[in-house]
Amino acid sequence: MATQRTEFPVSTERQVQVVNVTEKVVEACGQIEIRDGILLTSLRHTTCALTINEDEAGLRHDFERLGETLLNPFRGKDGYRHDRIDDNAQAHLTSILLGHSVTVPLSGGKPILGTWQSLLLIEMDGPRTRSIDLTAVGD
Ligand code: ZN
Repeated sequence: MATQRTEFPVSTERQVQVVNVTEKVVEACGQIEIRDGILLTSLRHTTCALTINEDEAGLRHDFERLGETLLNPFRGKDGYRHDRIDDNAQAHLTSILLGHSVTVPLSGGKPILGTWQSLLLIEMDGPRTRSIDLTAVGD
């Protein structure tokens, strides 16, 4: 049993944007010697999210709309307190709901994903350069 880490950057171009990072994750797994085990993919950020879902154009639009509007009803007439600091409270709040990490099985040096599953970074406070960490545990 061993543990190995690697990371790679992802640049986003819009304030709210869904980026399919599956190929980059598979490519980065090539730098890890562990072939079979568990792969933790995680973000070092507080205003974006990582999830697994289908990469379809209509759904990408829907995910982005979700990120933009999910918490609108909770903004209230006085807005969010954190917006007084850097105007991105909604991104922070949505991030905690969508999550910052995904764990998948690793087999033969590749993440096991279903036919319709992609690893999606959901940017909610872009454009920025984000960092995705991969931690593999196994043999
Ligand atoms: Zn903030």
